[in-house]
Amino acid sequence: MDDEDWGTATRGVRAGQRRTEEGEHAEPLFLTSSYVFASAAEAAARFAGETPGNIYSRFTNPTVRTFEQRLAAMERGECCVATASGMAAILATCLGLLQAGDHIVSSRSIFGSTTVLFDKYLARFGIEVSYVPLEDPDAWAAAARPETRLFFLETPSNPLTALGDISVLADLAHARGGLLVVDNCFCTPALQRPLTLGADIVIHSATKYIDGQGRCIGGAVVGNREQVGEAVFGVIRTAGPSMSPFNAWVFLKGLETLSLRMRAHSASALALARWLESHPAVTRVHYPGLASHPQHALARRQQDDFGGILAFEVRGGQAAAWQVIDATRMISITANLGDAKTTITHPASTTHGRLSPEQRAAAGVGDGLIRLAVGLEEVEDIQRDLARGLDALARG
Ligand SMILES: *Cc1c(COP(=O)(O)O)cnc(C)c1O
Repeated sequence: MDDEDWGTATRGVRAGQRRTEEGEHAEPLFLTSSYVFASAAEAAARFAGETPGNIYSRFTNPTVRTFEQRLAAMERGECCVATASGMAAILATCLGLLQAGDHIVSSRSIFGSTTVLFDKYLARFGIEVSYVPLEDPDAWAAAARPETRLFFLETPSNPLTALGDISVLADLAHARGGLLVVDNCFCTPALQRPLTLGADIVIHSATKYIDGQGRCIGGAVVGNREQVGEAVFGVIRTAGPSMSPFNAWVFLKGLETLSLRMRAHSASALALARWLESHPAVTRVHYPGLASHPQHALARRQQDDFGGILAFEVRGGQAAAWQVIDATRMISITANLGDAKTTITHPASTTHGRLSPEQRAAAGVGDGLIRLAVGLEEVEDIQRDLARGLDALARG
């Protein structure tokens, strides 16, 4: 019994569940690859699409379906298709909605593998991509062509937490006959619901905050019945990057605590951002929740809270940044994010290491930049772990 009036947190706990005759309270895990039919006639009807029901778990699975319906409810979408990874969600969206000769206008501040997918693989099939600055709608308008079909962004961006104005870009995309696709991995529907702001499709890497505890790889596409329920689903069920039922079950448990966790990640990130801004070894802090963030007003309008990712710059370039990272004892040195465990990264030598120094400079990723994905430990403990290296730097 899903309720249209439910808030996002309630949807995360309740939406999509249909109990079996066993009366189980929690969501059951259906580990089955295929399904049986009462008769040859029923099998024939199901294969012909004349009667609904499961055939094979590459197509549908009850645990996966519960995850899809719950995430769709949280994002206020008509349909959701779960995928094997976030990258499979992006690939399936492109395969489902594009054809040779089509064009994508994309924010240039997107996940590294997404850029590789666009430039190395989609390019082979005659799909061109133009990259534009996330914050500049005029550049998006100028890059659009008659054959532009998708406008693609992440907001906030990684690692500098720049924002794209979803409403403005949605209007721009629609005026040109295109679709706006938002990778909502950083905010999750707990903090930002792009479809309610005019976006057409939302993409997730469930691997990050939806799992929230670093266990499973998965993804999802949310949107309307025609584009997602038919076009993207058609690719998934045929090509096969479907979500495993076990992972769907883990992600379902993640959705139940997602709103609570995102509030906690955000509260700790804001406290740390404010502390870092006052630290003598830190020259700049990038966090949408700070009044000093150039798009703070947009963040307040577009998001319910500011999220768990922040970046800061230290004087002294890579040596100083590495010193701060290596002085931590608790925080995990890893490029992953969206975990209960706080992670720390040096983007210039890891996630952005393949870019040339010029490209990195254009992206604003300096050698002294450090990215923090704030976890759920006591904020005082995270601060103390960072202070060790920062205080040493400040002392010179
Ligand atoms: C991690 C990530 C992806 C890719 O997701 P996988 O689950 O690793 O395939 C896509 N977009 C963003 C913003 C990400 O952080």
